[in-house]
Amino acid sequence: MKMSIRSTRAAVALAALAAFGASTAVSADAAGTRPLLKVPFPCQQEWRGATWSGHNPDRAIDFNQGSGDSDLGRAVKASASGRVTAASNVGSGYGNRVIIDHGNGWSTLYAHLNSINVSVGQNVQDTTTIGTVGKSGGQSTSHLHYEQRADGSPVSIKFGTATWVPYYATDYYTRIHC
Ligand SMILES: [Zn+2]
Repeated sequence: MKMSIRSTRAAVALAALAAFGASTAVSADAAGTRPLLKVPFPCQQEWRGATWSGHNPDRAIDFNQGSGDSDLGRAVKASASGRVTAASNVGSGYGNRVIIDHGNGWSTLYAHLNSINVSVGQNVQDTTTIGTVGKSGGQSTSHLHYEQRADGSPVSIKFGTATWVPYYATDYYTRIHC
């Protein structure tokens, strides 16, 4: 019985991966090669990242350190160099959010920021602190809401060359290639 349960699970997981791979491949082709995108925090910091069914959008990840508001005010870094295309408070939902265009159709989005440290049109590096972790947009506790987008649409998140974020699961992430 255990074997049969395990193989059923494996089959479901493979089917999900196949569907998922197909849809991201389409986005990636349309948008061009994904740039190397780093975990959006300073080097050597380990952050807990969670994905879940019902998150809006589905492909987003929420990052925390500790519990409650213990990560409030921590620095948020750009995932890669690029140009800031949005940096404002959009109210309920994202709150203070920044979008960085990395070229080739790729962008990253950072939301619920406590403070925004960049402005539209500014060129940033992956070392630039673009803002700080907060709970703007009506969030009950502070966290960073983060998205990777291809041609404006949220896609499955990948850090560096090989770290694919699992859907749905909680995992730990640290910036490398520092
Ligand atoms: Zn979120």
